[in-house]
Amino acid sequence: MEEQNTCTHDCSSCGADCASRGNTEIQKEPLNPASSVKHVIGVVSGKGGVGKSLVTSMLATEMRRRSWGVAVLDADITGPSVPKAFGVSGGVEVSGETMLPAYTKTGIQLMSVNLLLEDARSPVVWRGPVIAGAVKQFWTDVVWTDVDYMFVDMPPGTGDVPLTVFQSLPLDGIIIVTTPQELVSMIVEKAVNMAKLMNIPILGMVENMSYAVCPDCGKEIPLFGESRAEAVAGEYGIPLLARIPLDTKLTGLVDKGVIELMENEYIVPAADAVEGL
Ligand code: ADP
Repeated sequence: MEEQNTCTHDCSSCGADCASRGNTEIQKEPLNPASSVKHVIGVVSGKGGVGKSLVTSMLATEMRRRSWGVAVLDADITGPSVPKAFGVSGGVEVSGETMLPAYTKTGIQLMSVNLLLEDARSPVVWRGPVIAGAVKQFWTDVVWTDVDYMFVDMPPGTGDVPLTVFQSLPLDGIIIVTTPQELVSMIVEKAVNMAKLMNIPILGMVENMSYAVCPDCGKEIPLFGESRAEAVAGEYGIPLLARIPLDTKLTGLVDKGVIELMENEYIVPAADAVEGL
């Protein structure tokens, strides 16, 4: 069987003994007995650099402002984006088999491969299974305290690593982050199909870098022409939760590690959807 072309990841209707069969048999990992996590939301994107980590950080910030217990499990090891946005480095306590997450300034619990590295600038050259294993360990070995909403910053793409993370964590829903350029490709469709195959509800889509805001007059500049976000979301029957502009204030907050000081309301409707779970 040509696995690449025909695999639907539904092994019940296929007799082939291929690599994907192994994947579908992955069991959900048990949460550390000392942890308490009520809802788990995956934030996904088709490729890197679309602002997935920024959206995760903004969502966590907004939910924390609403006084919920919030955590971020950073499973995207391609860069230290989430710890950087919160200005967190190091601070992970390891005791025997368990680890304690770092805390951001407003009390968001955070765990990331990047916090465990001695030098956050060094590239992580781990292979897929090792990455997936580390993420699973963050679920099983970290003591998460009174978490109402955990956001998982998923590895970008629809390959093996995100698939394994999808399968090993009990996700309640996912949010797809895209950019206008992605909306003209099949990337969104792939992410939607992956969530459907895993039977995970899609809470909706966030279009990032939708337009630019003029720093002088505040006028919205449609950099990529008229937005197709609404139409594309409609095509897949999922809500468009937010359209976030390219905003230099956001870049500044991330660079200074103070995303928790954000003053915009771009992410509010997406946080409403999470709260409505
Ligand atoms: P991803 O997690 O998808 O790889 P990031 O969230 O790390 O992407 O974003 C990539 C870079 O683009 C970061 O430096 C981030 O601060 C910047 N960025 C993302 N979205 C915006 C935006 N809407 N306005 C300004 N800068 C942004």
